[in-house]
Amino acid sequence: MKRALNFSSGPAMLPADVLRQVAAEMLDWQGSGMSVMEMSHRGEHFMRIHAEAQQDLRDLMGIPPNYRVLFLQGGATLQFTIVPMNLLGLTGHADYVTTGEWSRKALREAQRYGDAREIASDEANGFQTIPSPDSWTRSTNAGYLHLCSNETIGGIEFHTLPDTGSTPLVADMSSTILSRPIDVSRYGLIYAGAQKNIGPAGLTIVIVREDLLGHALPGTPALLDLRAQADADSMINTPSTFSIYVAGLVFQWLKRQGGVATIEKQNIAKARLLYECIDQSRLYVNRIDPAVRSRMNIPFQLSRPELDKAFLEGAERAGMEQLKGHRTVGGMRASLYNAMSIDGVQALVDYMRQFERQHA
Ligand SMILES: *Cc1c(COP(=O)(O)O)cnc(C)c1O
Repeated sequence: MKRALNFSSGPAMLPADVLRQVAAEMLDWQGSGMSVMEMSHRGEHFMRIHAEAQQDLRDLMGIPPNYRVLFLQGGATLQFTIVPMNLLGLTGHADYVTTGEWSRKALREAQRYGDAREIASDEANGFQTIPSPDSWTRSTNAGYLHLCSNETIGGIEFHTLPDTGSTPLVADMSSTILSRPIDVSRYGLIYAGAQKNIGPAGLTIVIVREDLLGHALPGTPALLDLRAQADADSMINTPSTFSIYVAGLVFQWLKRQGGVATIEKQNIAKARLLYECIDQSRLYVNRIDPAVRSRMNIPFQLSRPELDKAFLEGAERAGMEQLKGHRTVGGMRASLYNAMSIDGVQALVDYMRQFERQHA
């Protein structure tokens, strides 16, 4: 059997242990006589899977009791709509920080529903850093402040949180959730598509402080109304049952690894290994301000772009897949989510050094 070293930004690599368990339980989930795919979402078996996955996520992230955990669909992109629809009603205004492609998309979508203001952007410099929070032109009456915790395409991550006072912080955590401990109580709402660092596509996680529910704009569809979803325990309609099941297995796997604090240490070591390789080389370049470099998604360019094709072909021959950078950035990108082992990163670094020597 062949298992690629998969550096995809998402859908991304999953822990082999989890995939093995899914395979073993595929035809008969724990004596139920059926696959999780075939179960009623309101039946006893799936209700247990759903509740356990919620509880394990609460344990892993230390989610306080006054927060609701929702398992929705539509990806992070639908949350770009759901967030303003549900929260613009708080004061009629919201502040958005633009640090790359995803936060810009979130802003544009919010602007369709009301007064979403861009209060900071590094776009003029090609998104190489996060503008200092002192320079943000914050509104006095914003109902929330939106940011993207980790820009998956640009490779920029918030390593410290801005102090937003009493203004709820709303964060797109699609590509950094569960990669490091966070203090959930500092956020009003957190959302993340599952297919980066959690499980299969089709599941979107929302963690929302209870007092922020119930402010949806008139005309908000029930499926997009977080109050209605919370009241129905995310089951107004059929949820993405199989994705929730696999995500639940990933949560259990993470607990067995020692939880998020342990995985963070590994993630720091993995990212350091690759950034050191890039910084020590003459061929590879990462242009992001070192203070905000992402641990999860590491873009790098070849100073001789004519070698891009040979680099990617050689990588594939060595079993390393999906290293091509996003079309808007070019070059390469290695995503080092939780399921990527340090040995996998070492293999990439060994290949990069060897490739550089060959082409010196
Ligand atoms: C992948 C990604 C998205 C889009 O996710 P979908 O689930 O495809 O809608 C949004 N934000 C960030 C930070 C992402 O990494």
